[in-house]
Parts: sequence; structure tokens; C-alpha cells
Amino acid sequence: MKRALLLSSALSILTASSAFAQDHFNWPKSRLPIPVCIVSGKGVPGYRPQLETIVKQAFDDWMIASGGKIQFVFVDKTDGGQGITCQWTNDRSKMTSTIEDGETIVVPDAQGITSAKIMLLTVPPKAMPTLTDNYARRVALHEIGHALGIAKHSSNAGDIMFGTIYPVDKACALTEGDTSALAAAYAPSGSSTASGASGSTGSSSSSSELLGGQNAEVEKIPGASPGAAAVKASTLSNPPSASESPTARGFRLNNEAAEAMNAGKFDLAVTKLEEAYKLAPDNQMVGANLGMLYSNLASLAMVTRNYPRAEVYSKKAAVLVEKCSTKANLMQVLRNQCLILHVAGKEAEALKVEARLKSMGAK
Ligand SMILES: [Zn+2]
Repeated sequence: MKRALLLSSALSILTASSAFAQDHFNWPKSRLPIPVCIVSGKGVPGYRPQLETIVKQAFDDWMIASGGKIQFVFVDKTDGGQGITCQWTNDRSKMTSTIEDGETIVVPDAQGITSAKIMLLTVPPKAMPTLTDNYARRVALHEIGHALGIAKHSSNAGDIMFGTIYPVDKACALTEGDTSALAAAYAPSGSSTASGASGSTGSSSSSSELLGGQNAEVEKIPGASPGAAAVKASTLSNPPSASESPTARGFRLNNEAAEAMNAGKFDLAVTKLEEAYKLAPDNQMVGANLGMLYSNLASLAMVTRNYPRAEVYSKKAAVLVEKCSTKANLMQVLRNQCLILHVAGKEAEALKVEARLKSMGAK
């Protein structure tokens, strides 16, 4: 992991709400074709027009990998930030960590992904004298994969979606593994109707903490208003009342937190979820949501290089997610924590987390 990190060059930072979007989230049909704005890199040191061609080709490759289902339209400006925006920088300090060559921030709402921002470096990684076409292509393909909804890295080093991009000048292409990762992200279970249906069968309801979106989860809580209504209800139409049970109030706060997150108000979301958790400490969904929110706040803190804050949130996340959520989610949180500790220079602690991950079966 340590070695991999040193060579690592791409990382996706998901915004807080994406943690709640089950295992996968994607661009809903209603938002296709996806508008793509490749901001001109003119004036950015290291930029050359060929880089834009490479990025466009990478989008084409993903379109083909989707069997033509996901199409893109290249636009000069995205409408209100919707769609995918690609930007260039030669400034490593703008990246989450100084060893990354690409970074993607994905913003979903209740329907799915609404926007993604890809930042690409115009300068080569340390071990490379120049940013070659092959390398730029690999980073572009990888980041576009995240922008399309592939949140997890592949464990197969041959895949573009493998977590580490080695600084080598070698031709690359999407693999079968990448294609199936995309297919998995767009599998029907991600649609709202399907998740409602599968949730009510109880097969996976405990592991899918889609905050605010899962009617099945809502119905588990006695006395709470029906899901969709509760999610849509604002504090005005669903005010606290004296007769409200602590559980119901906890659940209302949980839904309000979802609203806050959709509005990008993460701090408000934390306040509400922390209160909800106090009121309903046995509610696994609330605990899991809070844990995953902490983990994402840790990532966001890392983006702003606030390592102490990142560390605090990431540790709080691990405790809650271990108690309330799935092993898969815990491993995700621990991987995140490992990265934060590395970047913060806390090698000994990072190694401990790594060992724990290994004991859980991580590669
Ligand atoms: Zn990545």
C-alpha cells in the first residue's frame, strides 16, 4: 500500500451524499446524453491541444464500452454546472495530494449523478520526464470512469480502474474488467423503483443506506411518515411536535440531513445526523449514514489539506461504520483512513490500518 501510494496518481473524491447512494450510482437516463465541457487549457503551463483530443477520445472509448448507451455531447459551457467538466492545472497543490495526476469530484442528487468535475494535471509525475500521450490517456480514462459512477477501484492491475497509475509510457485501453464495472454501475437495481422493490423484500435493505431515498428503510421506523413524503417534507411542513417519539424525531432529522446534503450543506447534515443518532442510537441506518458522512467529510477535509480534521473524521467514521454498517463499507472507510494517514505522514498508524485491512481480506 505504501509503495502503491507513492506511485498512485489518481484519486476520486466523492462528495458526502454519494456515500449514501448504495454501492453504485450513475447518470440517470433523463440526463443523457451527458454534456461534457472540456475547459480550454490555454495558458496553463504544460498544456498542449493534443491533450484535449486525448480526453475526447477517452470519452469516446467509454461510450463504446457502454455499448452506446452512454453518450456525450461536447459543449462550451455546462448548464448550471450540470454534466461533466474537465479542467487543467499544472499546480499539484490543487490536488488532494501532491502525487495525484487526476481527480474527480462527483455530485449526485436523489436521481443520480448531476455533475462531475475532473481535474487533470498538465505536468508529468515525478518519475517521468514529460507527460506523454499514453500516460495522459490513462489518467483521463481512469477519471472519466469515476465521473461515470465507478466509485470503486479494480483490484486487477491490468484495468484502467485499478487504484494505482504507474508512471510508465505504455499504450492503454479499457479492459473487460472496466467494461463490467461500468455495466455494474448501470445495473437496473440502481433505479429508484427497483431499489424500492428490492428493499422491501429485505434482501439488502440493511446494507443500502440510501439516505432519504429508500422508502423501505423509512417504513421500518414505527410512527415515521411514509418515506417519499418524509423525504420531500421540509421542516416547515413536518415540524417537531410534542407527541413525536424520539425515534420518529431521529428519523425526521435523518431525512432533513439528506435534504441538507442535497443542498451541499454538509455541516448542517452532520449536526442533524449527530442529533438523530443521539435520539436513535440503535438505528443502524442512522449510525451508518453518520459514519459514511464522517468518512466523506474526512475526504473533503483532505482536499483542503486539513489533515487533523481529516484524521478526526476518519476515525469517528471507522467506529460508527464498524458498528452499524457493512464490512464492505468499513473497508472503504479504512482504505480512506489509510490514505489520509499516509498523506499526513503518520506511517506507523497507516501500517496498522493496512494490517487490519489485510486481516479483513483486502489485497
Ligand atoms: Zn481512481
